[in-house]
Amino acid sequence: MHFPSSINSKLPSVSTTIFTIMTTLAKEHGAVNLSQGFPDFSPHPVLVEGVEKAMRSGSNQYAPMAGYMPLREKIAEKAQDLYTAEVDPDTEITITAGGTQAIFTAILSVVRENDEVILFAPAYDSYAPAVELAGGRAVYYDMLPPDFRIDWQGVKKLINQRTRMIIINTPHNPSGTVLSAFDMQQLEKLTKDSDIVILSDEVYEHIIFDGLQHQSVLRYPKLAERAFVVNSFGKTYHNTGWKVGYCIAPKNLMAEFRKVHQFNVFSVNSVAQVAFDEALKQKDLYLELNAFYQAKRDYFRQAIQSSRFKLLNCEGTYFQLAGYSRISEERDIEFVRRMTKDMGVAAIPVSVFYRHQVDNSIIRFCFAKEEETLKRAADLLIKI
Ligand code: GLN
Repeated sequence: MHFPSSINSKLPSVSTTIFTIMTTLAKEHGAVNLSQGFPDFSPHPVLVEGVEKAMRSGSNQYAPMAGYMPLREKIAEKAQDLYTAEVDPDTEITITAGGTQAIFTAILSVVRENDEVILFAPAYDSYAPAVELAGGRAVYYDMLPPDFRIDWQGVKKLINQRTRMIIINTPHNPSGTVLSAFDMQQLEKLTKDSDIVILSDEVYEHIIFDGLQHQSVLRYPKLAERAFVVNSFGKTYHNTGWKVGYCIAPKNLMAEFRKVHQFNVFSVNSVAQVAFDEALKQKDLYLELNAFYQAKRDYFRQAIQSSRFKLLNCEGTYFQLAGYSRISEERDIEFVRRMTKDMGVAAIPVSVFYRHQVDNSIIRFCFAKEEETLKRAADLLIKI
């Protein structure tokens, strides 16, 4: 007999994240893994050498709770350069163990029992469980293909006295769309005169195409004063496994964030922070990223153009959506399983990012891969 003999789950409807499921399945079947989003190429040598140097020169004990100060200073400088935002590295920036921890901590630090949090579906799969663990309730606005646009009048109808937070994500995973300046102005109008906190997931800030401009919340002082902005080094520097990101928020919000952060992770991997500080000195490394990934997007789209998949627009992120209704009537979850097992390419079903598993027969491919990998996948996909 084990104790407790039955556990009353705090997240009864949550199972293992789709990213783990699909990567495991891809490995099991030796499929080309275009499911979970991570690059199959190496980070820049400045990072690898930076870690080694940091280890040898003694940065092996706890970093400061909020993060390595020179790195925070570089982040503040970058926010000023790119978004003309005044951010105080001492009180308004915290280095986190990746974007997901920053999101979780931000939610936990302000959402209370019975608070409502507005999410835009398809929504990244960590948002709702974090809201529920905080005692809150996720309220969904469904964005629909092919454009996944937001009608802000519709969002307005979801707002009430209990609305504590709105979570936005631009460039958007999985749809590959980006919010416009108009969207940001609408959000500003909607939240004016309210206590609503904004959580802005901007982990793909440097992966945006065709000359579009990233609409960071940091460009909008009225939004920034009520926002947590989350970023990820893993997405920008091709090292998702290092699990380092950061959060920017005004002093009063950041003080609450740090109360949670200090008892969750306390502080983040010290040597990686020292290496990222070195990398941030080379601005080209992030400024070149748009062109780097745009070339991959174009290569992949071109390579599967003759397939029966229908490609949706991709304005940002390293994800390409594709409709498969010309190929199969299966549910997307079944289709990607079969594609992985029998056809040798793994992808992510988009229905898992909707509250009620809305299935539009659309799947997501990650193109953060070497050309050779994309070609191998494309050769298989055009045969389907
Ligand atoms: N953000 C990545 C994706 O969307 C996955 C991250 C993860 O697996 N936790 O594929």
